[in-house]
Amino acid sequence: MDISPLSFPDIEKSRPLVLAGPCSAETEEQVMTTARELSACGIRIFRAGVWKPRTKPGGFEGVGEEGLKWLAKVKRETGMYTSTEVANSGHVKAALKAGVDILWIGARTTGNPFAVQEIAEALSGSEVRVLVKNPVNPDIELWIGAVERLQNSGIKHIAAVHRGFGSYEKGLFRNLPQWHIPIELKRRLPSLTLLCDPSHIGGRSELIYPLSQQAMDLGFDGLMIESHCNPAIALSDKEQQITPELLHTILKAIIIRETTDDSESLYELRREIDELDQRLLDLLSKRMSIAREIGRYKKQHSMPVLQPKRYEHLVTERVSQAPGLEMDEEFVRQILEAIHEESVRQQLEIFNKG
Ligand code: PEP
Ligand code: MN
Repeated sequence: MDISPLSFPDIEKSRPLVLAGPCSAETEEQVMTTARELSACGIRIFRAGVWKPRTKPGGFEGVGEEGLKWLAKVKRETGMYTSTEVANSGHVKAALKAGVDILWIGARTTGNPFAVQEIAEALSGSEVRVLVKNPVNPDIELWIGAVERLQNSGIKHIAAVHRGFGSYEKGLFRNLPQWHIPIELKRRLPSLTLLCDPSHIGGRSELIYPLSQQAMDLGFDGLMIESHCNPAIALSDKEQQITPELLHTILKAIIIRETTDDSESLYELRREIDELDQRLLDLLSKRMSIAREIGRYKKQHSMPVLQPKRYEHLVTERVSQAPGLEMDEEFVRQILEAIHEESVRQQLEIFNKG
């Protein structure tokens, strides 16, 4: 069964399709003020979580069904479409009854096939639009599996939301973008509308603009962005929420590059190459940091930097993989030598310090 694109009769089809609103509905006043400000900026789809999945107990877990009334008021007053997160059949029933237009399955729920199946069954026969966020762990099959469960329940309007992937190591991003995963999803399910959630990828308001631009350059159809009338006092995700005014400025600044059909695939492939190069560099940088750690160990234990036996073993073992990986052995040897040379140089620097 084909998936219909996420579209709305009275919203222009041009990119990006934007959903915006607070991480959580907190009070009627916060919801209405944010919605009015967003609507004044031309935003047509409002988001707000009323049931909030929190990593640990004790945090703000959402206002529950009460918030659905505020969403209905947003719709009545501003004409915006409304959306909220559902994580079980009770949520689905309440949200459908309250007339919410779009439901989304959150990252923690997508990773749980029992929950997704329960939601899919509760949605059966409904015309509601459903967004599926990627699971927290980088497992594309789970993501696709959730989409299939919805399709099997007769849901036609499904879209995917890329919100980044959890990682033990904390770096620039709250959740690693791993762009190759949504790109692969689009390759496998070409008719699926693909949105990006830069708020949860970046985890910081400054990253929303560059991540949104990158998503548009990669051909994403739309953006889901957290916006709060007063981010400083938000009850959840305060570092990543932006005011409707800043959202408006960002959306105006984003450049949309539309390519003709002919060059589009070439453009996509080059984008993938750029992404892979970036990952190669990140990996090399990680490898060097481990080499430096080994350097410090060798220094403390008065071991020499060069360990010829270990080096010989490493090169022989890696080079033997070359044919299976469709690469020339000499090419792999040269890369390994270059990497090794830089590791040794960095370790020597440690030895020569102090
Ligand atoms: C959210 O959109 O507020 C949310 C909880 O997102 P995620 O499921 O991506 O963490
Ligand atoms: Mn959030």
